[in-house]
Amino acid sequence: MKTTRLFKATLFAGVAALAGLFSTASFSQDKEKPTSTPTEAKMEAALSKLPKADRTLADAQRYCPIMNSTRMGAMGTPVKIVIDGKPVFLCCAGCKESALADGKETLAAVEKLKKATAALAKLPAADLPLAEAQLLCPIQEGSRLGSMGTPVKLTLDGKPVFLCCKGCEDAARENPKATLAKVEEIKKESAKGGPVGR
Ligand SMILES: [Zn+2]
Ligand SMILES: [Zn+2]
Repeated sequence: MKTTRLFKATLFAGVAALAGLFSTASFSQDKEKPTSTPTEAKMEAALSKLPKADRTLADAQRYCPIMNSTRMGAMGTPVKIVIDGKPVFLCCAGCKESALADGKETLAAVEKLKKATAALAKLPAADLPLAEAQLLCPIQEGSRLGSMGTPVKLTLDGKPVFLCCKGCEDAARENPKATLAKVEEIKKESAKGGPVGR
């Protein structure tokens, strides 16, 4: 009888420890994965921990050059690295290895992001979150919004659609249903926080 009770107690402790292990594992996984929609306040709080000069640089980038659909601050305070004497900000330490593996490509990606960020900043404030939810042009496959100047906004079936350039307008209007379907597809992809586009 005594042995059984002891066994039961041990078993219970074991299960409890295992459950604890599982909850810890899922917690750290949540921390590493970008949350689906990090709030502006959360990103601001993370970015505010950077020194002022770094903050300006991280803001100019706005996105990680590796996980280029992940905003700066979405994964906590951005990680700063230096490539060829140039500061680069990453969404998290997990992106460091990839960023350093091909420094030239990373620097080129940073330049592209800065250009896109500056172009998107010219949109009306209310349009910025809409364009960023989309991130890519539904017509020119993989073309990041802002890479060809300030995106062009259309309304198709009452829904806002952003295009990388004026040259994509005819194709977008030609088949509104297909364009809107593509927009939904790229929005889902962009929300994952992984690498998108070219
Ligand atoms: Zn990262
Ligand atoms: Zn275009």
